[in-house]
Amino acid sequence: MGLIRLIIFALVIWMFWRLVKNFKAKLESRNNSDSQSGNKLEQGNMVPCDFCSVHIPEKDAIQHEKMWFCNNSHKEKYLEDNS
Ligand SMILES: [Zn+2]
Repeated sequence: MGLIRLIIFALVIWMFWRLVKNFKAKLESRNNSDSQSGNKLEQGNMVPCDFCSVHIPEKDAIQHEKMWFCNNSHKEKYLEDNS
């Protein structure tokens, strides 16, 4: 009986150790994918200025209806030219 108990005890410890290892691996891969998607978000979408065609990050661009501009003066000039 003593030997069987020892084997079962060893098995339980081994299974527990494997679970912890898997859990850590999952956590690490989740953290990695999080930081990757975070980097993508930081870069953001690039949009072309409708006046000078320069590409700027969406968060820095000025939106007017469905158009994008790199700054306010380009937006005003574009609207003046097309009015
Ligand atoms: Zn521009």
